[in-house]
Amino acid sequence: MALEEYKRKRDFKKTPEPEAKVGAKRAERFFCVQKHLASHLHYDFRLEHNGVLLSWAVPKGPSLDPKTKRLAMKVEDHPVAYGEFEGVIPEGYGAGIVMLWDRGSWTPETDDVDAALKKGDLKFTLDGYKLKGSWVLVRTGGRYAGARGGGDRSWLLIKHRDDWSGDLDITEFAPRSVKSEGDFEDILAEDTPAVWHTNRPAKGGDAGAMLATIIERAARLKAGQNPGTKATRDAHTKDVRAARTKDTKVTKDTKKKQPPSTQRAQSKKKK
Ligand code: MN
Repeated sequence: MALEEYKRKRDFKKTPEPEAKVGAKRAERFFCVQKHLASHLHYDFRLEHNGVLLSWAVPKGPSLDPKTKRLAMKVEDHPVAYGEFEGVIPEGYGAGIVMLWDRGSWTPETDDVDAALKKGDLKFTLDGYKLKGSWVLVRTGGRYAGARGGGDRSWLLIKHRDDWSGDLDITEFAPRSVKSEGDFEDILAEDTPAVWHTNRPAKGGDAGAMLATIIERAARLKAGQNPGTKATRDAHTKDVRAARTKDTKVTKDTKKKQPPSTQRAQSKKKK
C-alpha cells in the first residue's frame, strides 16, 4: 500500500514530519531536494508522481557535471506534504536536521513514468532554484550489491549536458535553504530538542563532528551573540541569485573551453 513503509518507520507522536497522506494527481509535478544531516549527511531527492514523492537518498548530493555520476539509493515514497518540510527530527527514524535545499517542478521526458521506473531509466527536466535542465536516474542493478538495502535499490543520478550543466560545485556554492535561507544552525536555533543534550542522532565520524559544531553555533544564535545573522541571510539571498547567473556563465565558459580540445584533436590528426 502507498506510504505504508513511510508510516511504519515513524512515530507521529514523536516526529514533526507530515502524516502519511496520499495526495491527488496533479498536472504540475513538484520536486525537491532536502539536505538531511542525520547519522550521515545526505541529500534526499524527491519527484512527485501519482500523489506521492518518489525518493532517493543521494549521499554526495547532485552534481552539475555530466561526468560525475552520483549514487542514489531508492528509499520509501514520501507524502507530497513532505516536500515543504524543514525542521528538526528530535529522535527515531531520520533523527537530525532537514533543510529544504531546492524545490520547483519537474517534467518527465517520457509519456510513461511507471514504465521508465520499471525499466530503471527515467529521464526528466528540473525547474528548481538551483537545479535545472535535463537529468537521468538510472538503476544500476547488482553493481552495488553490497550497498545497504540491496543492489536493486541502487540508482545513479546524472546531469545531461545542456545550458544548465557545468563544473560549478552546486552543493558547496549554494549550501543553504531555499525556504528559510538559513543554514543548519539557523534551523536548529529555532528548535533544539532537549533530548540531544544527552543523546545526539550522530555522535561519531564526520556527521557527529559537524552536528556538534552546528549545535554550538545554534546555541550562540539562540543566545543572541550573532547580531550579523540577518545580514548574513541577506548576503546569502544575493549569493543564490548570483549563483543562478554565475551558473549560466560557468556553462558558457565551459563551452568556450571546448575549442582548444578540438584544436588538440586536429593537431593529433596532423601528426
Ligand atoms: Mn534522509
